[in-house]
Amino acid sequence: MTTAKPKPPRRGPPGETVLTGIAVSPGIAIGPIYDTSEAAAEVPRRVVAVDAVEAEREKLAAAAATARKQVTKLKTRLTILPEEAQEELAPLLDAYILMLGNSRLLRGARKRIGDALLGAETAVLDEAEEIAALILAAKDDDRAGLMRRAAEVREIGRRLIRTLTATPFRSLKDVPAGAILVADEITPADAALLDPARIAGVATEEGGADGHTAIMLRALGIPAVLGCHGLAAAAARGDSAVLDGARGRVILHPSDTALAAARDGLAGYARERTKLSKLRRLPAETTDGEVVELQANLEIPAELPLIAQAGAQGIGLLRSEFLFMNRASLPDENAQFDAYRSIVEAMAGDSVTIRVLDWGGEKDMEALSAGVPMGSGPNPALGLRGIRLLLKRPELLEEQFAAILRVSTRGPVRVMLPMITTPSEVKQAREIYERVARRLRRRGEALPDRLPPLGAMIETPGAALAADAIALEADFFAIGTNDLAMYTLAVDRAEADVAYLYDPLHPAVLRLVQFATEAALRLRMQVSVCGEMAGNPKLVPLLLGLGIRSFSMNASAIPRVKQAIRALDIDDCARFARRVMEQSDPVRIRELVDGFGPTS
Ligand code: PEP
Ligand code: MG
Repeated sequence: MTTAKPKPPRRGPPGETVLTGIAVSPGIAIGPIYDTSEAAAEVPRRVVAVDAVEAEREKLAAAAATARKQVTKLKTRLTILPEEAQEELAPLLDAYILMLGNSRLLRGARKRIGDALLGAETAVLDEAEEIAALILAAKDDDRAGLMRRAAEVREIGRRLIRTLTATPFRSLKDVPAGAILVADEITPADAALLDPARIAGVATEEGGADGHTAIMLRALGIPAVLGCHGLAAAAARGDSAVLDGARGRVILHPSDTALAAARDGLAGYARERTKLSKLRRLPAETTDGEVVELQANLEIPAELPLIAQAGAQGIGLLRSEFLFMNRASLPDENAQFDAYRSIVEAMAGDSVTIRVLDWGGEKDMEALSAGVPMGSGPNPALGLRGIRLLLKRPELLEEQFAAILRVSTRGPVRVMLPMITTPSEVKQAREIYERVARRLRRRGEALPDRLPPLGAMIETPGAALAADAIALEADFFAIGTNDLAMYTLAVDRAEADVAYLYDPLHPAVLRLVQFATEAALRLRMQVSVCGEMAGNPKLVPLLLGLGIRSFSMNASAIPRVKQAIRALDIDDCARFARRVMEQSDPVRIRELVDGFGPTS
């Protein structure tokens, strides 16, 4: 994780270009670039009914607006490119923006939709091809100029078609083995479909340090650099590259020296993995005997083997969203039951905390879009997401509760509620929970006498500040520092442009973590941290010092966190946390954290 502002690309040795972005997933990748920002090749021809014409035209207008926004954003970022590149690209992007406005291409495509009853993408393709052919047929000696103009029209057509036909897995399934995947943006649903055995690394223009895409890439162990400005303009398919996910760097056309350094780095990672694997069976215990619980976060079932390898003591956060992603219809109670059962059984008696669906913000799910007024408000992150959506659509919550309750006879589970802001949300959810349990019992299901604990995520400033009241309704707390930092600092966790402001070490965030932790500890209630902070070994002394004894993180972070814990003394940590909490300057706090030693 880094909070640095993006740096302009710099020239290394001749031919080499070094780009800097946000370091989101450690590891080194060496391989050819596979740029998925390129257009899809084929557009199936689509004809529509007369009464669908208006809807197709609206789709076209929306796609043009989206594409215009993308190009405008790309243009604002040109300033970080070398001057010659800026001079070349700026007029081109201006032309694109014009063509995405009230241009002949859009007017023509709109007309074709109505005249020939064509789907929007088919109309765009036909119109772009016709305009390109007319340009190329013009009598002009400047052949190169004509070809360039025709290519521009086709490129705009392709951009529109890509937006119109977007499906999450469309462009990612053909990535060749060993390639570094480059894209404008990768959604969490795209990331869920990436195969870590095939993809060497991921680099994107967009994205922040603790967005769900970043979390997913870390969980899959794919080296990644997000928010890498200038990448789309500088990288082309087939370019050789080195990606360093710990330093947040992508080197295009690396020199022999850069390649040799990358190979050394890869060997270093392999040695470290061997060393850390020896910690697997050792307890997470401080030098003075305080035992700490280290659990894993799970985004997709493919991570289960990594969780076993890491020696996690259960799953502290099962993000159930994976069940709802990349599908057109909702999973029913039985499908959910099967999925939870295989995870609970794989954990063989270790506890699994299942978080009910946390949909919203960047986690867009097709299956839920129908009939739900989601993402349409002026500010989706502040709208109907998490528990708010579930209480509005109680049938979703009931099905999920039923599946989880049935699984609770197969192993220890806990149930967790996302995006809580008021005690009454926990109360209402509990009423539904108990009603579902009564119904299942009537149906003859043998549920445990005591229902699994029902806990609240503390991930909004409102919940943290009302933690004492929420603690009276909840059975446990899990502090979600990712959203807590986002909402406290008003900084989108997945937005590259403001990533430098996203800082969980901001005193405002730390004070909320402290307040919520103390509210739980006063009632002797279990409290854990399951945001990305928990997986950062540097932050362990501070969190231990604040009273946290349970951490849940991506599985690959567990060995390093365990190593850190085994070198710490709780009294030192408590003294250190007191010192940190006296500070009001985030820069000073980071200095203290970076410089922490037993005598700090
Ligand atoms: C969090 O917000 O810190 C959290 C753990 O939940 P998610 O990252 O899934 O939003
Ligand atoms: Mg969250």
